[in-house]
Amino acid sequence: GTQRRLASGEMLFHEGARGSEAYLVESGLIEIFVDRPDGRHVLARLGPDEIFGELALIGDQTRSASARALEPTVLTVITHETLTDQLARTSPVLRHLLRVALGRWRDTLRRVGTAGDGHQTLPITRPSAPTEAPADRDLAVKRLRLEQALTDALQRGELELFYQPIVDLAAGCTAGFEALVRWHRSGQPVSPAEFMWVIEDSNLILAFGRWTLRAAAEGLRTLQAVHRPTRCGEERLFCSVNLSARQFGDRSLFATIERALDDNGLAPEQLRLEITESAVLDDFETAVELLTRCRSLGCKLVVDDFGTGYSALSYLHRLPVHGLKLDRSFIKDLAMNERGLHIVRAIGRLAADLDMYAVAEGIETPEQAALCRNIGIGYGQGYFFGRPLALADAQAALAA
Ligand code: C2E
Ligand code: CA
Ligand code: CA
Ligand code: CA
Repeated sequence: GTQRRLASGEMLFHEGARGSEAYLVESGLIEIFVDRPDGRHVLARLGPDEIFGELALIGDQTRSASARALEPTVLTVITHETLTDQLARTSPVLRHLLRVALGRWRDTLRRVGTAGDGHQTLPITRPSAPTEAPADRDLAVKRLRLEQALTDALQRGELELFYQPIVDLAAGCTAGFEALVRWHRSGQPVSPAEFMWVIEDSNLILAFGRWTLRAAAEGLRTLQAVHRPTRCGEERLFCSVNLSARQFGDRSLFATIERALDDNGLAPEQLRLEITESAVLDDFETAVELLTRCRSLGCKLVVDDFGTGYSALSYLHRLPVHGLKLDRSFIKDLAMNERGLHIVRAIGRLAADLDMYAVAEGIETPEQAALCRNIGIGYGQGYFFGRPLALADAQAALAA
């Protein structure tokens, strides 16, 4: 970066002047001060490696204090572009916190020297500094509140798993379920689309992930108890649980799974782990390692939302996967045109050729169900067969 050299006693900037740069002291000594009716207040003396002028970060380009060199000084100039570029690449929460902190620091600087003159009033911090992008603040505030609320919800047991049937299309009966989380926020159910991003973006995902595995195993035991296998091909029901990418880094995941199976008397193949294509490809090596361990345990792995991610097919032969779950968008197009049909059929064949089974999700009509069955898709899931239900309701539906 550019450098500035100051002689002893030379002013760098005056309070109230405009300026958007911050500085790093290379050598020498800088004094930061404000002049008030009652005299000069020295706020700081800064030597090598110290940074100042950082208030430029919040876009308020009026200096809140003055700066001068106390001895010959060399500074590296940090441009506004560097600062804003760094800021843009950080998380909205950190961005927001930094702006709040800097804004408060600026207000404090402005009050210096006014104390004791009898009419000091603390400025009321307005909800939004005019220079801040409101989207950042809104997102940060929402994110922070949601994370807190979800932490409480998990502790208070306000999260619940719902169960949606997965149907064996040829036999026409329920072969298993997918566990889908619901949040009862002051009595109202909230959809995972509204909060999973917060869970996945925080450490909550670890506790949440362990909870879903335990809860799903318990749920499956309950469902298995009323299952009458004589009516359908498979003796044992399975339950699919969604795994998030960050759970791959959870060293206790494997133990959690083993324990959940043990405690509920389940066979490993009854538990299926759904992972999205993008989650796998984000950290392929870790995913392979973990999934290989899960598979060695006997759990089945399914690639969820297949066809919507990077769709790099080459990973399929390196990943120990049992099934492919076709994204709902393909099923939507299925009855609309020939191309939709060709795509679903091709994915069905790909799965069969790789010794995997295929699940079509989002089946809403009898036509879609028939088309999927006729082109050889093994399993179907969707509102046509049943919506996700609370455990007791899923149990009742299964027993009926
Ligand atoms: P997903 O894994 O792709 O789950 C399928 C979604 O499609 C579910 O939405 C389900 O209710 C919905 N669905 C099922 N059949 C139909 C249908 O016929 N038509 C339509 N329009 N939708 C159908 P839901 O329950 O809102 O979950 C949304 C997403 O949230 C899930 O997508 C999954 O990515 C995530 N999620 C849900 N529960 C969990 C969980 O326990 N753990 C993790 N990591 N993610 C979860
Ligand atoms: Ca899923
Ligand atoms: Ca899916
Ligand atoms: Ca999805």
